Amino acid sequence: MTLRLYDTLSRAKRDFVPVNPERVTMYVCGPTVYNYAHIGNARPVVVFDALFRLLRHLYGPDHVVYAANVTDVDDKINLKAAQEGVPIGVITDRYLNAYHADMGQLGALRPTFEPRATQTMDAIIAMIGRLVRSNAAYAAEGHVLFNTQAYGDYGKLSGRTLDDMIAGARVDVAPYKQHPADFVLWKPSKPGEPVWESPFGPGRPGWHIECSAMIEQSLGLPIDIHGGGADLIFPHHENEMAQGMCADHAMGYANYWLHNGFLNMGDQKMAKSLGNVELVHDLIGRAPGEALRWALLASHYRQPLAWTEDVVTQARAALDNLYGALRRHKDIEPAGDGPSEAFLEALCDDLNTPRANAELFALARRLETGSPEEQARAKGELLAGGALMGFLQADPDAWFQGGADAALSARIDDLIARRVAARAAKDWASADAIRAELTALNVEVMDNPSGATWRLKESA
Ligand SMILES: [Zn+2]
Repeated sequence: MTLRLYDTLSRAKRDFVPVNPERVTMYVCGPTVYNYAHIGNARPVVVFDALFRLLRHLYGPDHVVYAANVTDVDDKINLKAAQEGVPIGVITDRYLNAYHADMGQLGALRPTFEPRATQTMDAIIAMIGRLVRSNAAYAAEGHVLFNTQAYGDYGKLSGRTLDDMIAGARVDVAPYKQHPADFVLWKPSKPGEPVWESPFGPGRPGWHIECSAMIEQSLGLPIDIHGGGADLIFPHHENEMAQGMCADHAMGYANYWLHNGFLNMGDQKMAKSLGNVELVHDLIGRAPGEALRWALLASHYRQPLAWTEDVVTQARAALDNLYGALRRHKDIEPAGDGPSEAFLEALCDDLNTPRANAELFALARRLETGSPEEQARAKGELLAGGALMGFLQADPDAWFQGGADAALSARIDDLIARRVAARAAKDWASADAIRAELTALNVEVMDNPSGATWRLKESA
C-alpha cells in the first residue's frame, strides 16, 4: 500500500518514498517549555504521533526515527525564571514534565529523540561557524545574522519573494541587518540572562537555528518528513531550510513538509487576551484523554479545527458507540491479523483520519450484526485499527466507568442491582429513590435490553 502525503513545498500530494526505508526520519518542532501546553499546542503532537504510528506500522517500529526538539532557552522562559527568582532549568524541568504527562494522556508516544536546545549548544555554535565561513551569515554588533541573499531559494517554502519581504518589513528594521529579511542566528544575552561562550562573543542562539542543528545531529540531511503547525511555515521553517541547506551544502533539507491547520476556539483565535485558552491539563480533568485525542483526529489534519464543547461531546459519543459494541460482544474471540484494508487505505491517503474513523464504525456495525465469522474478524480489525491509532485499548467496562474508584464503583453497582430488582418488582417508589441517589452521586444510568450500564457524568 502506497503512502501519499501532501507536501507544502511542492504543493502537491505525492507518493512517499523514504531516502532509506530501513531508517525513515521525521522531525517535528516541539514545545517551548515555560507553561502548560494548550489544546492548540497538542494538535501537531497528536497529528504527527498518528503519522509516526502509521510509519511504524508500514516500515516496522525499529525503522522509524522521530525527533522533536524541546526549546528550553527563550525570552519567555527567561522572564518566568526571573519572576520566580530561579534558574531557567527549574522552569523548563517543571513544564517539560507536565508536557510529557499531558501528551501521554492524549496517547502520544514519546519521540525517539527529544533534543534540548541547551544540550545542543556545541552543534548550534559549530553550524553558525560554518555559515559564517561560507558567507551565508555575517557578524554585526555582537549578533550573527543569516544572509538571506546568499540562498537563492529563500521564500520558496512559504511562497514569498525577498521583494515581498522588503515591502512587508516593519520600518524599525535593526540597522545592522544587510537585508530586512535577514534573521538572527546568535545574539548577545541581556544582563541576568543565560549566556554561552562562542567564537562570535558571549550570548545565546536565535530560535530557528536549534532545529537545523538538531536535525543535522540526530537525523542527518535530507530528512524524509518535517512537520509542524501551519503557523511555523514562515518564518521558522523557511529559515530552518535556508540555514540547513547553506550549512551543509545539502541537496535537500526535508523531502516532505507537512503542516497541520490552525485550531481555533469556536470561531475565535485562542488568545490570552480573549480569555479562551484551554490547557490540556485542565481539559483532562473534564474528559478522558482518549476522547480529546479522538476530537483532535476527527477532522483532517490540514483543515482548520474549530474546538468547542460539542467536538468533545461528539468524540465521547463516538467512543461510547465503539466501546459499547466491544462490551456487548465481550465473549467473541477476535480474529484476523491486523487493521482492515480500508482503514489503512484511508490513513495512507494523506493521513485521512476522518475516513479511517468511519471505517471503525463500519467494523463496529459488522461486529453487532454480522455472521459469527464476520463478527470475529470485525472485532479483530476494530481492535487492531484502534491500537494503531491509539484508541480502544481500555477495558470497555472501565471506559464507561472512568473516573470512579473501586469503592464508589461497588456502591454504584449495588444501587443499580437494587434498582433493577425494584423495577422488576414494580416497586416504583424504591426505584425512583435509588435513581435520585445515583443522580446525587453524579451517575448517569443507561438502560438497555441487556440490563443497565452507568458512567460518571462530566463534572459541571
Ligand atoms: Zn523548528
